[in-house]
Amino acid sequence: MSLKYHRILLKLSGEALAGESKFGLDYGVVTNICKSIKECADLGAQMAIVVGGGNFWRGRSSGQMDRTRADHMGMLATVINALALADALEALGVDVRVQTAIAMQAIAEPYIRNRAVRHLEKGRVVIFGCGTGNPFFSTDTASSLRAAEIDADIILKATMVDGVYDSDPNKNKDAVRYDELTFKEVLNQELAVMDSTAASMCKDNDIPLLVFSIDDPQNIVKAVKGEDLGTIVKE
Ligand code: UDP
Repeated sequence: MSLKYHRILLKLSGEALAGESKFGLDYGVVTNICKSIKECADLGAQMAIVVGGGNFWRGRSSGQMDRTRADHMGMLATVINALALADALEALGVDVRVQTAIAMQAIAEPYIRNRAVRHLEKGRVVIFGCGTGNPFFSTDTASSLRAAEIDADIILKATMVDGVYDSDPNKNKDAVRYDELTFKEVLNQELAVMDSTAASMCKDNDIPLLVFSIDDPQNIVKAVKGEDLGTIVKE
């Protein structure tokens, strides 16, 4: 089986793990996503995952709280999701390692780039928790940072919409979906693909990004194989 992409940085939003209730974890949904991740690994793709935390907490929506502390809480939320993914993957027989940007040695490895690459080369799935480890950043930025560090072929951004639109498709029924964009267009038109810090990092480091819907987790496998779906953003 020929794969279009070999080393993948998969970005999963926290919301994608929550299912219908939009909050917390739906283990059935998590397991279905993990089945597709396993399928990719079985096909020979090296799978690194950055997971969000929005199904529990988002620093920027914390109201009165000090932003730095609220972001610390958001990063902890990503660790909950990372551990849930690891558990579901292990239950499917996948070899998996969690690495966190903030050390918590009792439950995960610390993030060490060379070690992460070694795990990938050995066919292990690596899940990065705690985003970048810094407040005022997002897990999208963590995805572009880790993708650059591990020299990923592409970032696969599995989201709640099936690509990038010129306006919010949930609010505007005439919204038009793009097949292809450049990061310059994303930044200039302020398209809601990822935050500008993350988009700039992808642009500067020439990392392509494919945005597609996680509604059907099989889309992850299709994306890795290079099938036509979603919106591709590249320079
Ligand atoms: N966060 C952070 N630094 C990072 C990544 C994440 O402070 O490098 C915090 C931030 O509060 C963010 C939360 O973790 O709101 C959850 O991440 P994100 O909002 O990116 O998750 P998603 O929306 O993808 O589920």
